[in-house]
Amino acid sequence: MVEVIAKSQYSESCRLCPRLQRQFKNLRQHYPDYWNRPVPASGHPESSLLIVGLAPGMHGANKTGIPFTGDASGELLFKTLLRLGIETRVRITNVVKCLPVKNAPNKKELDNCRRFLLAELKAHRAKNGYVLFALGGVAHNSILKTYGFTLSHFPFKHGAVHRFADGGCLVDSYHCSRYNTQTGRLTEVMFHQVLSKAARLSGLLDG
Ligand code: URA
Repeated sequence: MVEVIAKSQYSESCRLCPRLQRQFKNLRQHYPDYWNRPVPASGHPESSLLIVGLAPGMHGANKTGIPFTGDASGELLFKTLLRLGIETRVRITNVVKCLPVKNAPNKKELDNCRRFLLAELKAHRAKNGYVLFALGGVAHNSILKTYGFTLSHFPFKHGAVHRFADGGCLVDSYHCSRYNTQTGRLTEVMFHQVLSKAARLSGLLDG
């Protein structure tokens, strides 16, 4: 079972999105040292808290092969996880595993990649009191679509906790992108508060 999930979670041989394949081909010439492939989930495989971002950043996860490492979004995420003391106890993934063109996956790419998210969510939901932490509206919607839930029943709202019948829940946050922090939509304090709420709900923190 674990092996099946591991394989479907991370298909390096995936060729479903021609636009992204063309981009990788081009990038391998200009950045031969970069990862330039689908980026698998990272972190603790048994964690009750799954953090779901959008997609690898060009000079972050697409370079290192690890979600949220090497760019500004990751700086804020890991700084906050460290402050909470849970940096080694969470699992981190993205709804889209490949670097999107101009940071914006299209509908087909989101749909194509949902099979990998589905495998990750299935494994995660098997845990008692599981918590999903959506970074941004695209991750929120993608999680709900993957479950087959009606989006209008669970509107995205920073700080909202959406509870599911199986005992798990989804916590929403604005994405920790540089754009959101520079425009003031998301502050470090806001991010700390919402992530600590998710950590408490998942049992990683007391209270
Ligand atoms: N890096 C990631 O891995 N995901 C994001 O959503 C942003 C940056």
